[in-house]
Amino acid sequence: MMRKALHSKTSVAAFAVLMAVAVGAAHEPAHADDEVNLYSYRQPFLIQPLLDAFTEETGVKVNVVYAKKGMLERLKAEGKNSPADAVLTVDIGRLHDLVEAGVVQSVESDVLTRNVPAQYRHPEGLWFGLTTRGRVLFVSNERVKDGDIKSYEDLADPRFRGRVCTRSGKHPYMVSLIASVISHHGEAEAERWLNGVKANLARKPQGNDRAQAKAIHEGVCDIAVANTYYLGKMATNEKQPEQKDWAKAVRIVFPNQDDRGTHVNISGAAVTASAKHRENAVRLIEFLSGDYAQGIYASDNLEYPVKDGVPLNPLVASWGSFTADTIGLNRIAELRTAATRLVDRVGYDQGLGS
Ligand code: FE
Repeated sequence: MMRKALHSKTSVAAFAVLMAVAVGAAHEPAHADDEVNLYSYRQPFLIQPLLDAFTEETGVKVNVVYAKKGMLERLKAEGKNSPADAVLTVDIGRLHDLVEAGVVQSVESDVLTRNVPAQYRHPEGLWFGLTTRGRVLFVSNERVKDGDIKSYEDLADPRFRGRVCTRSGKHPYMVSLIASVISHHGEAEAERWLNGVKANLARKPQGNDRAQAKAIHEGVCDIAVANTYYLGKMATNEKQPEQKDWAKAVRIVFPNQDDRGTHVNISGAAVTASAKHRENAVRLIEFLSGDYAQGIYASDNLEYPVKDGVPLNPLVASWGSFTADTIGLNRIAELRTAATRLVDRVGYDQGLGS
């Protein structure tokens, strides 16, 4: 079914950017009910072993389309005829966009209620977080002393003029962080803050999170904002060993440990509104929230499991424990539009520091 859909004319060109189409070679299921169709923004190296384990345990075959963009557009275009039963994606922003577009449906599951803490799932079960990641400070090992910078608010402190690097304020990771600042301080105070961060920039916002560590390594700036797992991905990167040097140049500071805690975001899953295999989709998401899958997320992708009691990768554990902001991610999602407008009003992406 999924294969057929893929080979038919794709109305949404963006979704043609497929990394892989992992459909079984001789896919002839005895019953269509023994399968589930998944659209995934999460990468095959991480997800495929989990799906294989799910199939082994349940006998339910998973047909998955891995993609880098265009999922929302495709789901909207396909509407009721979409073959997708479930989706996997990263960032609360993308999960919220699925809700706004009406392409996901509500799920009630005791397993998910038990495994996923309330702040990491939608109140009506429209999405469920499966992993968390801290949006932290990467600071220069050489040029930033312990205790010099302790909070997101400090990023706007004039002491750090010309020393801060970030990616575009419009990237979903930044939008969610800025939304969290709005949620705690209100929009006017958040605007003053973002203007202060802009004034401290060492260069125009650019690149991805890893590029900020590289900039610290090169002495362009001393303090950056990035997601936790990137430090581990750089430190263990055998394909691009130069990234190990970027990782060595920085350490993580978990912001706001004296007050509200560090902003965290999630990767997550949802059941589509069009799901033809709804029960299997719920089973799959339940499986991904269970001990086995949570352990793989932690060990192989250097994220934090949402489920309590699942061990961390030792490298991740070595960064230290931290208190996470407990604000519901649903609230962050609601403030994303305000955050995006704020980025525009401040002209953050045009900032060069001064
Ligand atoms: Fe990422």
